[in-house]
Amino acid sequence: MDCLFCKIVAGDIPAQKIYEDDQVIAFNDIAPQAPVHFLVIPKKHIATLHDLSEEDDKALAGHILFTAQRLAEERGCQEGFRVVMNCNDLGGQTVYHIHMHVLGQRQMHWPPG
Ligand code: IMP
Repeated sequence: MDCLFCKIVAGDIPAQKIYEDDQVIAFNDIAPQAPVHFLVIPKKHIATLHDLSEEDDKALAGHILFTAQRLAEERGCQEGFRVVMNCNDLGGQTVYHIHMHVLGQRQMHWPPG
């Protein structure tokens, strides 16, 4: 499968990994938009949020969220941080393997562009 993030999961493309377990990995974004900017992804290939199954992936979705929470706190984001999941072209998604962005250590604004 020609998926960039699957290649990172497989170790075929290097990444600055900050966490890994049997279900997820987290690594620093290659083009950080904040002093802290990492991605939490499932190891399983799921292309978009539309493809996440309430029946099959509920525990995985929770694990992604709580991994993001814990890693953000470990990286000094106790005062606040932002999580973003872009879905599909209209949602600004560019890599079609779901990922939770975690951004922190700067003031965030709303609405995003
Ligand atoms: P999206 O626009 O929500 O799909 O976000 C994709 C993110 O992946 C962007 O923030 C990119 O900077 C990031 N990205 C793309 N390639 C790599 C890589 O090889 N390593 C780490 N991050 C990447």
